[in-house]
Amino acid sequence: MARNLDPKCKRCRREGEKLFLKGERCFTQKCAVVKRNYPPGQAGPNQTRNKVSEFGIQLREKQKAKKLYGILEKPLRNYFREANKQKGATGETLIRLLEMRLDNAVFRLSFAKSRSLARQMVSHGHILVNSKRVSIPSYQVKVGDVVEVGEGARKKKGFANLVEEISKEEIPKWLEIDSKGAKGTVIREPVTDDIGHKINTSIIVEYYSR
Ligand code: SF4
Repeated sequence: MARNLDPKCKRCRREGEKLFLKGERCFTQKCAVVKRNYPPGQAGPNQTRNKVSEFGIQLREKQKAKKLYGILEKPLRNYFREANKQKGATGETLIRLLEMRLDNAVFRLSFAKSRSLARQMVSHGHILVNSKRVSIPSYQVKVGDVVEVGEGARKKKGFANLVEEISKEEIPKWLEIDSKGAKGTVIREPVTDDIGHKINTSIIVEYYSR
């Protein structure tokens, strides 16, 4: 299946909320959700969001998770299957599996301004886990893992600026960043309360359990 090539801002407008897909721009007044908070399409600002069926709600929530984490249908379904096999609440496990992807951890540590940039950093070999290069964005980090930006990428001007800003960003509580800002440790597994954006995993679980 092809990667979703919808312009990123359109995906946010479709969901009616910020999904933070474009890095820097998402934090400014130029954000399309701030400027045009209505669904994309020719009907313009006067259209209303149609009342949707239960299936429609489940579908939208599942689509939102895919857009947010930048993954396709098959991997999300596989995460659900894996979560369903494990002990505990499936929705909570699903969030854990999604959040503990290496590209997401890099984004959460503020080493990149968006998940797509984080994914690029990983696949271009700029990220080390426990001092070893890992170039698989879906790699699952574990408690105790140390995630850091490789020497080469650290020297780039853009990254130096980013490090200055990192202390201002909110790092989720399941991660801890060192004072120099280029290294982070997974101190515990993430839970739904850590994720800071609205995603209803029980609705996604209902969708895949049909
Ligand atoms: Fe979404 Fe960012 Fe575009 Fe705003 S600027 S609509 S948050 S991708």
